Amino acid sequence: MAEVEKVHCLIIGSGPAGYTAAIYAARAGLKPVQYQGLQPGGQLTITTDVENYPGYPNGIMGPQMMIDFEQQAQRMGADIRWGMATQVDFNSLPHKVQIDDEKWIEADSVIIATGASAKWLGLESEQRLNGHGVSACAVCDGFFFKNTDVAIVGAGDTACEEALYLSKLCSHVHMLIRRSEMRASKIMQDRVLKTENITVHWNTETLEVLGDHKVDSIKVINHQSKAESVIPVKAFFVAIGHEPNSSMFKGLLDMDESGYLQTLPGSSKTNIPGVFACGDVQDKIYRQAVTAAGSGCMAALDAERYLSALEG
Ligand code: NDP
Repeated sequence: MAEVEKVHCLIIGSGPAGYTAAIYAARAGLKPVQYQGLQPGGQLTITTDVENYPGYPNGIMGPQMMIDFEQQAQRMGADIRWGMATQVDFNSLPHKVQIDDEKWIEADSVIIATGASAKWLGLESEQRLNGHGVSACAVCDGFFFKNTDVAIVGAGDTACEEALYLSKLCSHVHMLIRRSEMRASKIMQDRVLKTENITVHWNTETLEVLGDHKVDSIKVINHQSKAESVIPVKAFFVAIGHEPNSSMFKGLLDMDESGYLQTLPGSSKTNIPGVFACGDVQDKIYRQAVTAAGSGCMAALDAERYLSALEG
């Protein structure tokens, strides 16, 4: 029979949400066990400077910030481990979670903080220059390209929101749209089209991001005219959507049509008692380190209250 371990509070995932949940759960005496997942620290480990997280007056590198979070959780007593949840069974109490396709954990409460992953175009040059002018987060990195020309790809609400954000910081924003229409809501489209320093390139796809060590231009093709051109830009933002890391919970937890876990408004509670969700796996709107951390705190407080009630 496979090995089974019993824990009071199990945390799956390790971005700002997971680590904050671990800090709060440990301080509340819940003895949390946290499995970090494939990418310990999550999306922040593939960013560079973070200047908008309060408490770091001189900014902080994303990977270092996640090390700080982890050390703080460890100092509070969280048991942080390598390993990935590979299967869950939430049909009866205690909840069961399998790690690395091997051992099973029986948990009185489970906090899901598995995050989301940005979608990329899949170009070799896009990956090579990631963090050197290529970014999937305008709010995080736009500031570094103040008063320069930049490009953004995507035509949904996120791309529109980020193009508008960039238009306030940058000299010019080139918005690359692969079809002859946008997917975004009408109001967002109107705002983009009315903004003088945003040029919309319809029917346009990116062939390559150019630059040796940092972005200096992009090569694009217009599908109608078949014309290729090079646009000089200092940054290339990709805003073609995110994928919540929630496939393991399909059929068990309520999620929206894109796979984002649904929580009871104003709480971290999922549709299954004792299972809580925080961070980007349940947030497609804000997606910031600070909002993820805040929701991690909520999940730990909700778990603490749930466990207290369970124990009577
Ligand atoms: P969406 O899935 O809505 O849009 C993705 C966009 O990226 C589409 O325009 C799509 O083009 C484009 N795209 C996808 N793949 C490629 C590719 N390979 N090359 C070029 N373009 C590509 O994602 P969003 O992140 O914008 O939004 C997700 C959800 O969150 C939506 O429901 C949105 O409404 C919501 N949201 C709401 C906000 C708000 O209310 N304030 C803010 C932000 C998001 P195509 O249209 O051709 O498929």
